[in-house]
Amino acid sequence: MNLSEAMQRELITTVCERIVAATEELTDLDRAIGDGDHGLNMKRGFEDVLSKLDQLAAKPPPGALADAGMALVMKVGGAAGPLYGTLFMSLGKALPESPTLDDLTTALDLAVAAVQRRGKSTAGQKTMLDVWVPISGLLAAGESDLDTVRRRAAEAADATVPMLAIRGRASFLGERSIGHMDPGARSSQLIIEATCDVMEGWS
Ligand code: ADP
Ligand code: MG
Repeated sequence: MNLSEAMQRELITTVCERIVAATEELTDLDRAIGDGDHGLNMKRGFEDVLSKLDQLAAKPPPGALADAGMALVMKVGGAAGPLYGTLFMSLGKALPESPTLDDLTTALDLAVAAVQRRGKSTAGQKTMLDVWVPISGLLAAGESDLDTVRRRAAEAADATVPMLAIRGRASFLGERSIGHMDPGARSSQLIIEATCDVMEGWS
């Protein structure tokens, strides 16, 4: 995988635009089981990343991801900001300048472990990890079919609906958290879906 500046530009733009376009949906999900700010938090962060498009696209993946992660920490806020920041910054730290799919798999595994440490959380607790953990596992199992990855991410986000929230603000609701999709799981799915859509165009 040798990412050109144009490819990085397309990837960054698509991911950010998809998150911004989903502001209302993410807000509604967070209104049901949280405080209704996830959409605006994510919009603020990803708009900031988009505003740095020229600088980010010109850097090799490790530096671009580190900078994007830092922007998310600074701008998203809430619980999700530090967690997404950790995810992207850890990816940046673990990836070599010209990553292969194997490098990406290893880096994602490390990054997801870093998010778990940061959030003191694990899969099954109705959070973004319910999407990232299975996707990381799928790549580690050797799956590289983009449609399979995309479908698994959607299933994983859907699977948070019947879960009881054990971490984050939604856990304050106890049993009433059941029956709603976790907003961070949905935003994670959107990022993975956007990435798969863009990569499909390259193959
Ligand atoms: P806040 O909960 O502070 O209002 P957001 O609404 O932006 O922050 O983000 C909420 C999302 O963050 C949740 O839907 C969940 O996916 C994720 N989240 C919250 N706490 C944790 C945690 N401890 N570990 C993993 N993810 C978490
Ligand atoms: Mg919230």
